[in-house]
Amino acid sequence: MKSSLNKIAERIVADRYEDEANQFLGELLPILLSKYEELFGEEGEVGELKVRVTDEGLPDGKVGAFKLPEGDGDGILIVSPGAFSGEKAPYWFVMAHELIHAVLKNPEDPHDERFDAMAEAMQIPEQYRN
Ligand SMILES: [Zn+2]
Repeated sequence: MKSSLNKIAERIVADRYEDEANQFLGELLPILLSKYEELFGEEGEVGELKVRVTDEGLPDGKVGAFKLPEGDGDGILIVSPGAFSGEKAPYWFVMAHELIHAVLKNPEDPHDERFDAMAEAMQIPEQYRN
């Protein structure tokens, strides 16, 4: 009984965090795209994005991840619930970091100098840049 109650509560909390994350995403995207254009002189593009608040699919010790779209699918931004509850790095830095991956689309060398330039422009503190 206890475990199913916990599961229900976890789901409700994750839904609430996802609402918060989607609202943040809507406000963050125009900023991200304008910084991209300022830095690289061309329009950035992220396609359709989905936010998932979960620890599933995150490598050990990671607070966020971005999965590039495959085929016609959406890009998926994964953020740990701990980034919303205050236990881990704040979600706004985690999401900004992962969104830079979404616009740069550079899985081979994700934290290259273009990433650093975007992270600087987005005012992401050093400790949340890798
Ligand atoms: Zn990264």
